[in-house]
Amino acid sequence: MAPRQVYLDNNATTQTAPEVVEAMLPFFKDLYGNPSSMHVFGGQVAQHVTKAREQVAALLDAQPDEILFTSCGTESDNHAIKGVLEAFPEKRHIVTTKVEHPAVLNVCRHLGKQGWRVTELPVDKRGNLDLDRLAAELTPDTALLSVMAANNETGTLFPIEKIGAIAREKGVTFHTDAVQAAGKLPLDMRKLPVDLLSISGHKLHAPKGIGVLYIRRGTRIAPFLHGGHQERGRRAGTENVPYIIGLGKACELARTELFEETNRLRQLRDRLQKGLMETIPYTHINGDPDWRLPNTCNLGFEYIEGEAILLHLSAAGIAASSGSACTSGSLEPSHVLMAMEVPFTYAHGSVRFSLSKYNTDAEIDYVLATMPGIVQKLRDMSPFYPKDAARVGSVAQAAG
Ligand code: PLP
Repeated sequence: MAPRQVYLDNNATTQTAPEVVEAMLPFFKDLYGNPSSMHVFGGQVAQHVTKAREQVAALLDAQPDEILFTSCGTESDNHAIKGVLEAFPEKRHIVTTKVEHPAVLNVCRHLGKQGWRVTELPVDKRGNLDLDRLAAELTPDTALLSVMAANNETGTLFPIEKIGAIAREKGVTFHTDAVQAAGKLPLDMRKLPVDLLSISGHKLHAPKGIGVLYIRRGTRIAPFLHGGHQERGRRAGTENVPYIIGLGKACELARTELFEETNRLRQLRDRLQKGLMETIPYTHINGDPDWRLPNTCNLGFEYIEGEAILLHLSAAGIAASSGSACTSGSLEPSHVLMAMEVPFTYAHGSVRFSLSKYNTDAEIDYVLATMPGIVQKLRDMSPFYPKDAARVGSVAQAAG
């Protein structure tokens, strides 16, 4: 029997793992003390927060004192960027890329309006950076380089190790938004020359509203929230204990499952991609097919609108996305696809499928049986679809 609901929008958000919910529950009930309190209620909770910090640190091969809990990926990105600029008041230049998430791009643009010089590096058609150009942009006036580890829309990976090495050589602080990479790829802070790294809980099966900023020991950065002494004076405010515990558990699960899940997801994603490309003509991969997150597949279908595909998919119980959740709703192709100069003919017909550990083979079969018929139906209604153009394969005809 066909699955009724298939969730393939895991780069937008993930299901909170049942083990994570279970781990959090006591902290809504009996373990309600403030971790800063001296009494036993506080002490008990503080121990659990310490353990959660260790669990997050273990996922990154980092030291627990390098883990700062924040409220989300967006806050981590804001803290990294604004905190470094404040720590280097004499430097007035930021370098980033055109394909960052708005949590980085819009902060940089806001700072640009306030007088900082901002360089947004372009990408090529596969979404890759020119590293020589990147190196040439870093000057003694550059306070920060912010380059994401993995793109949320296409899954394209940036070579963080090489980019960090360039930043080190030039003496520039390096931040990476690893919101989409964490839990999907190994991130070893002993090896990666990264000073600051952002994570968001809800992308790796923890709840929404919890994030992490990894701050390498010795990195110059100003506090973000001023007030109490929490988070070693770097982010004041009583800790969101249940969510911190949940994130710790999610990181522990991600760490133990990483290798096996990465391989399984890659196979599942590849089967989805191959099946769709084989049955649906005029279909293109957006992003770098060889250097991508294992769970992500962004496909452009010529002659039709991504939004129309999504509506039909949704009616069939399949959830996907036509871009980043935050930017869908606008009629323009996403800034990422535009930066990659994806041809107009399929930039508008692009759909992102992003998988998680909860997706099954049966779900992929269902999508493969459903999608071609949807595409053909929409093409048949499209004024741009040539009458003599190829039609979807026989599987599609049956499903349509
Ligand atoms: N950075 C990237 C790459 C993202 O994909 C997202 C969310 O989609 C964010 C930052 C923002 O994270 P949050 O939703 O936790 O604020």
